[in-house]
Amino acid sequence: MLDFTDQVIVVTGAGSPKGIGRVIAKTFAKQGGTVIIADINQSGVDETVQIIQDEGGKAEGILLDVTSKESVENMVARVMQRYGRIDVLINNAGISQKVTVAEMTLDDMKRIFNVNMFGLFLCTQACMKPMISAGYGRIVNLSSVSAKRGGGIFGGAHYSASKAGVLAFSKNLSREICKYGITINCVCPGLINTEIWKSLPQEQAQKIIDGIPVGRPGETQEVADTIVFLASKEASYITGEEIDINGGQHMD
Ligand code: NAD
Repeated sequence: MLDFTDQVIVVTGAGSPKGIGRVIAKTFAKQGGTVIIADINQSGVDETVQIIQDEGGKAEGILLDVTSKESVENMVARVMQRYGRIDVLINNAGISQKVTVAEMTLDDMKRIFNVNMFGLFLCTQACMKPMISAGYGRIVNLSSVSAKRGGGIFGGAHYSASKAGVLAFSKNLSREICKYGITINCVCPGLINTEIWKSLPQEQAQKIIDGIPVGRPGETQEVADTIVFLASKEASYITGEEIDINGGQHMD
């Protein structure tokens, strides 16, 4: 079992009731970590914290807007004041929009990039500081299979572009921060069994499944388990890497 006892883990977007972030947070808590549930959705934050505490885990909720530098800095200041450390950052908060480029507005483009790319930058930069001082850190970013092959089912080209930006940003940063004992890696989930998947008409869902060699969508727990490994002490020689979690839908 990977051990996160005494570690503080920040998970952005962990308030989503049926999303990946909540499962990531629960998994870290099960491995002994203190998890910071950071999300723009206050009721979601409260619920995730309650669930983890009911299961005997350690969690604290913080209302966070990743697009606001002030909000991000306040979050980091609060965590540092209370716990004095941030060992792990999981940049999970993300938004999508299904729209063609022909129909897309510049505001659509900005909104997606604001959360998926600029928000990830703000959180990473702020959480890196205590990691550098400590000489240890793990950062894992949620990219997507869409970054590599284009999306089109749930998201537009702006979503794919923002998630491709996450990959390049992470590789570049991995070279800058490895000397401080910090690794940064990405996961690229394919179709995951979240609300958005469940909302698809049966016929369309089957067509997509036909293109997945494993023959089913991924489970949120499968994404969380990969992330928790990349965030562990044991993954010390993996950095700048992108792990596909897509049942063979896309291989490169
Ligand atoms: P979700 O919509 O269920 O959860 C996203 C969470 O991010 C929500 O709780 C939301 O409140 C939060 N959020 C949005 N804007 C925010 C902001 N400005 N500040 C703070 N929090 C904010 O999404 P999900 O399906 O669980 O996806 C999680 C991540 O995984 C996303 O980055 C997504 O792009 C990526 N991903 C998901 C899938 C999938 O199939 N679900 C596939 C590939 C990648």
